[in-house]
Order: sequence, then C-alpha cells, then structure tokens
Amino acid sequence: MKTALTIALAGNPNAGKTTLFNHLTGARQHVGNYPGVTVEQKEGCCLHKSKGLRVVDLPGTYSLTAYSVEELVARDFIINEKPDVVVDVVDASNLERNLYLSCQFLELGVPLIIALNMVDVAEKRGLAINTEELGQRLGVTVVPIIARTGKGVDELLDAVLRLSEATTTPQPAFLRYGSDVDETLADMREDLELLDELRAIYPQRWLGVKLLENDEQIVQKAQATSPEAAKRLLARCDEVANHLQHTLGIYPEAMIADHRYGYIKSVMHKGVVTRKFVGDRLYTSDRIDKVVTHRLLGPLIMALVLFALYTFTFSYSTVMVDWLASFFSLINTTIDGLLPDGPVKSMLISGVVDGMGGVMGFVPIIMFMFFGIAVLEDSGYLARVAFMMDRIFHFFGLHGSSVMPFIVSGGIAGGCAVPGVMATRTLRSPKERLATLLTVPFMNCGAKLPVLTLLIGTFFSAHQARYMFLATLLAWIVALCAAKLLRMTVLRGESTPFVMELPPYRFPTIKGLFIHTWERTWQYMKKAGTVILGISILIWAMMTYPGLSDQDLAHFDAARQQAEKTYTSGSEELNQALGKIDADQALMRLKHSYGGRIGVAFEQFSQYAGIDWRTNIALIGGFAAKEVIISTLGTAYSLGEVDSDDSTSLSDRLAKDSSWNPVKALAVMVFIMFYAPCFVTVVCIAKEAGSWKWAAFSMAFNTFFAFIMAVGVYQLGALIYL
Ligand code: GDP
Ligand code: MG
Repeated sequence: MKTALTIALAGNPNAGKTTLFNHLTGARQHVGNYPGVTVEQKEGCCLHKSKGLRVVDLPGTYSLTAYSVEELVARDFIINEKPDVVVDVVDASNLERNLYLSCQFLELGVPLIIALNMVDVAEKRGLAINTEELGQRLGVTVVPIIARTGKGVDELLDAVLRLSEATTTPQPAFLRYGSDVDETLADMREDLELLDELRAIYPQRWLGVKLLENDEQIVQKAQATSPEAAKRLLARCDEVANHLQHTLGIYPEAMIADHRYGYIKSVMHKGVVTRKFVGDRLYTSDRIDKVVTHRLLGPLIMALVLFALYTFTFSYSTVMVDWLASFFSLINTTIDGLLPDGPVKSMLISGVVDGMGGVMGFVPIIMFMFFGIAVLEDSGYLARVAFMMDRIFHFFGLHGSSVMPFIVSGGIAGGCAVPGVMATRTLRSPKERLATLLTVPFMNCGAKLPVLTLLIGTFFSAHQARYMFLATLLAWIVALCAAKLLRMTVLRGESTPFVMELPPYRFPTIKGLFIHTWERTWQYMKKAGTVILGISILIWAMMTYPGLSDQDLAHFDAARQQAEKTYTSGSEELNQALGKIDADQALMRLKHSYGGRIGVAFEQFSQYAGIDWRTNIALIGGFAAKEVIISTLGTAYSLGEVDSDDSTSLSDRLAKDSSWNPVKALAVMVFIMFYAPCFVTVVCIAKEAGSWKWAAFSMAFNTFFAFIMAVGVYQLGALIYL
C-alpha cells in the first residue's frame, strides 16, 4: 500500500525550487546523488492535511531534451518514478521563458500543477498576472506563491492533493510544429508503432519529436528496441532536417522550439499579463545590466569580481588553514612525545595525521570558494560571467562558466585545483564539464609556485617576473588547447547551445548561502576524505619502505661513532659531520624505498628530457603534494630537511651541480607544470566525474603530455644552447 504521495519540484534554474523545497521540508531533508551521476538529489517530507508528502527537488532545467545531465536526470525521474504530482515552479517575473519548460511537461502529459513563484518580484516590476486565465488556457491549475515567505504554499498543497485524487489521467498536449515537421511525424507513425517497449513508457508522438530533436537517449533506446525501425525513422528525420536546412536554413530542433514559443505567445495573448508601468522605463535588472554587461566596462567589472572571488577564497581562508595546521602539528608533537621511535609512530605522524591534515587543510578553501560562488550564483551575476566569457571558451569547446574553475585552480597563479575541480559543478553539460575538470590541473596552483620560484630564482634570476608571467600564460594556453584537443577526440560532441537567459539580480538569502556552502563542503569531506586518508598512508609507505638493512644501519652508526671520536663533543665540526651522516642516511633510505627505486628505474626514459633519478624521486613525491618536490629534492641531494619556504641551500646546490643547467631547469619546470595532478585532485576528479576511469585518464594523459613537452623543450634547448 502506498501512503505517501510523491511530489517532484521541477523548473528552470533559479525559479525558486530549492527555496520552496526548504520551506516545505525544513530540516526533514537529505541530500544524495542520483544513481550513477554526480547530480545532487534532494529529498524530504512534509505533512499536509494529515497526508504524508515525499518531496523531491529536481535539478533545474530549461528543457526536457537530453542535452545535459540535469535534463536527463529530471526527465528520467519523472518518467521512471512517476511522481503523483509534478509541481512546475515558474518564475512569474520571467513568465514566457519559464513556460517553455511547462509546455514540455504538457507535451509529455504528466500530472502537473504550476506554482507561479516570485509574484512579489513580478508585482514590483509592475506585472499583474491573471492566474485563472493562464491556468484555463494551459489546462492546468496555476497557484501564485512567494516561496521565500511561504505565501500561497498551503493553497498549492491543496491543489496538489486535489490533483492526486483526480481520476482522469493527463493526456499529452498536441502541439503543432509547422507543416514540415507535422508531416514527418505523421509519416513516422507506422515505424514508431514498432517500438512497443518504448511506447509503454513514453507517448508515441513525443518519441517522434525527440527523434527529430536528436535526443541521444531516445535515439539509443530506439536503436536498441528495433534497429530497422530506428534506421528508417532516423533516415526520415535526416530527410526533413536537410529539407529544413535547405529551405529555411534551420534545424528541426529550432523549428520545434519556435513553435513551442509560438504556443506560449498564444497562451499569453491578451488578458494574462498586464503591465502597470508602460513606456520605456527600464527595470532595475536591465539597468544594472546596461553597465555590468557593457562592452568595455563589463569585462573590467568581471575581472574585478573574479579577482575578488579569488582573493576571498585564498586570503581569508588562510587564518583557518593556519589554525588547522597548528592544530595538526600539535597532535604530531603530542604523538612524538608519547610514542617511542619506530614504524608505528612514523605511520601515525607521516601517514595518518598528515593525511588527515591534508584532507582538512582544503576544507576552509573549499568553504570560502563555495560561499563566494553561492553569492555570485544566487545574485544572478554568475550567469553574466558565463554570458560574457562564452564566446572565447566556446571556441575551445568549453562553456562560459568554465572560467571560474580555471581562475580558482591557478588561472591567477597560486590557486588550487581541488576547489577548482569542485567548482566545475556550475557547468551543466557533462562533456564540457569533464573537459574543464580534466584541464584545470594544468594551472599553476599554489603548491607548484615554490618549486617554480626555486628553479627560476636559481637559473633565470635576471628575469624572475617575466618567467613567472610566462608560466601563467603558458598554463592558460596549454589548458585551453588541451581542452580543445579533448573535445575533438575523447569528449567529442556538440557544444550545448547557450540557452541561458540573464536571470534578474536578487539579493541572496543568508540561509540559502549557508545551506549551499555547507552541503558542498560536507560532500567533499564525506566523499573524498576517506580515500585521501588511505592514499596518504600508501604514499608514505611507498617513500619509506622497505627501509635500510641492518648492515647499512650499522655502517652509519659506525660513521657516527667515528665522528664523535674525531671531533670534540658539542663543537661546530661535530654537528656538521653528524648532519652530513644523517642526510646521507636519509638519501640512502629514500633511494632504497619503492618510490626511490621507481625513480631510479625511470631515469632511462626521463633522461630524454634531461631529468635525472634524483629529480624523478622528487617528482614521485610530488604526487602527494607538489610542494613536497622541494623537500624530497633536498633529501635526494643529501641536504637533509629542506623547507619549501626557504630553499636557499637547495638553490645553491643546484646552481653548482654540473648536471643542472638552464635548459634542464626549463624542461623540469614544464614537466612539473603539466604532469599528473596531486592525488587529492585526482580523488576529486574521480568523485566529480563519477568514475575512477577519468581519474586514471587524467594521471596518464597529463604525465604523458608533460613528458612530451619536457622532451621537446630539452632536446630543442640542448640543440640551441648546449
Ligand atoms: P532554484 O535554482 O530553482 O532552486 O532556485 P532557488 O530556490 O535557489 O532560488 C533562487 C533565488 O530566488 C534565491 O535567491 C531565492 O531566495 C530567490 N527566491 C525564491 N523564491 C522567491 C520568491 O518567491 N520571491 C523572491 N523575491 N525571491 C525568491
Ligand atoms: Mg536549486
């Protein structure tokens, strides 16, 4: 027996679904993911007139064609789970645009109620909407609400209950799409009838429309159901597509969309909307947009806003980052004092606590970034950024919204790819999103900077600023070109048409901002945290084991005793000698470890890029975190501990070392900029892309790519300069 009613909240992004959802469910909600994809699924429950309601907040969509994951998820949910009522949340201040989706619900024939939201905003703009009239023309109940205050929500739920008790099943609306398309649909009828299994799930004519719209999911399903029928159907679609191209220069999808808008226009015709203010008075949002998307001022303001987001994310979070760092170092000191030296202590300190510190260290940055993004998103400014940047990014197969992940990852040198990868959530098309999250690690994150600074400072000290600038420029060029390459090969596919209106500006609510920020941060901790800890221990083991043999240990002990005999105790010479022995022991242990052995073995390949085994080991260590490259190089050059903030001793050593020269330094720099991202980023890529396959791809692709670049630089440089 089914007692609770399921209600799905659908609607355009920013129509107010989540606000309504929060109002309905309050704290009785939880966030999960839709199976197999990384789109958030929010579910909650509430009670109305002693009826239990299960409420699902669907992802925001502009259409129901499978152009993006969100659209697919929303559609699949409605089709497979058959909610008792679909509540279409419509932004009253943007009625025409929002009704485009409502129109598609009508075509699909679902039990629909329209929640006409933001009537307060519409009113402020002088719009009065006759909901009765609108409802009659569409053939559905329309209830005006203000989700933010909860006004009208009771009436909405009344309407929901009434509809759920209705005995008639809703029929798909029959829209006309122009003579060419209509004729084709008529021709397709016979073959569509062969698709029995699909017809049991979807309305038949709707299937025809989706095939004409080139809907990937439906095309595949049709092919799986009946290959022959599908072949004929697609051939017929091609035919009309060619014809329409030839005669009108448009695609069937555009033709169909035009007719939907035509239908909406006819619904809205006269009497539905009245404007109280007439004349050329501009609304506040339009007035703001005059400045904010101005040809010259727009980009300038955007640069400032993005820079502010960047500064906010990385500067203001430092207090918390430092605080966490000292907290974890306190734990380490405590463990150090409590436990005897040995493998357990070493694992606890270098594996567990450092690993946990690694996980937590990113939390403030992620929190600050998502807070900043939530402000931009909720206020409506993000849509303007995407709008302005889309031209450039579109050229590289990306989307205007890709700009933020790039900036956060180090587009302004010094970012971090972990929040960058997570920031790709603002992208809606799966392929554009993947292309973005696979290329953001090419940016110069804050952890690569000390390494680049060390090498530039040592070998190109005369042109430090210039080289740093070039490194940033190169990162952008490489990332964008790599994205283009991916979009032309493994991620081939149409760019999503830029269907993004500019939503009106709004003041974000504090509650909304905090909910957004917290949900996303918590997901990072929950999803990535445990894996990161595990891998951290693994890397520690790789750089530590198998350790030195007793014989080797005895050798170093003997050397120490010898030194103590030779020099007077407490003297400077003795300290120096002992330090030297410690450093040699550390080097030998590192070289002997599994990581070290790999580094040595890889020299036979890396030599083509001029990279020796010591650097190899450091690069392997860099997989833990890029700043580790410096400390590992220090050990590998038998210098003992080298701090990434003060690497003068290492710099001197490299400058004097005959195997190093500017060409090699350049090759190493290029390699460090582009090889496998650190493992925290890799874990985040896996979680965000929804599969470890992409994480593995990222490591392999980047390392291979970096290697080719480094070999190129080295060989060319050697030819010219050496
Ligand atoms: P979603 O993308 O559909 O989930 O939209 P949200 O629920 O996140 O709402 C987008 C913005 O609209 C938020 O800043 C809300 O505070 C605001 N909002 C939602 N409903 C109303 C309303 O009825 N009136 C006003 N003035 N603002 C609203
Ligand atoms: Mg939402």
